[in-house]
Amino acid sequence: MPSIFSKIVSGEIPCYKVAENDAFLAFLDINPLVPGHTLVIPKKEVDYIFDLDTPTYHGLFAFAKDLAPNLKEAFGSKRIGITVIGLEVPHAHVHLIPINSMKDMDFGRPKMNPTSQDLQAWLQKING
Ligand code: AMP
Repeated sequence: MPSIFSKIVSGEIPCYKVAENDAFLAFLDINPLVPGHTLVIPKKEVDYIFDLDTPTYHGLFAFAKDLAPNLKEAFGSKRIGITVIGLEVPHAHVHLIPINSMKDMDFGRPKMNPTSQDLQAWLQKING
C-alpha cells in the first residue's frame, strides 16, 4: 500500500507543488504551523529518514537548501526552520517552516486549516 506521499508523487492525490525534480518533490503542508510550511520528500518511498541511502539523504537536504531562500523571501520570515518528525506519514520528509519565533516551530500547538484559496495564494507568493 503506497504512502499518501507516494500517491502525491504518482498524481493520484493532488498537492500544492512548490518544486520538483527527478528524485525530489516539495509541496505545501495542508495543515501547516504557519503559512508557507512546506514538506520536502524523496520520490522513492522509504519510511524512516535515516534509512535513506546516503546519496538520497544528502540530495533531500540539498534540494531543501535550494528552496529555503525563496521561501524566506516570499514570507518575509527571519529564518526558515527545518525539522524532521515523521510520526504521522511513513514516508521520509523534512518540514521547511518560515519562522519568526520559537513558537512557529511548536508541533504541539493546533495546526492551521487553510482553505484551498489560502494555499493557492501562498503558492503564488512562492512561485510567483
Ligand atoms: P509528520 O509525519 O509527523 O512529520 O507529519 C506529516 C505532515 O504531513 C503533517 O504536518 C500533515 O499536515 C502533512 N500532510 C498529511 N497529509 C498531507 C497531504 N495530503 N498534503 C500535504 N500535507 C499533508
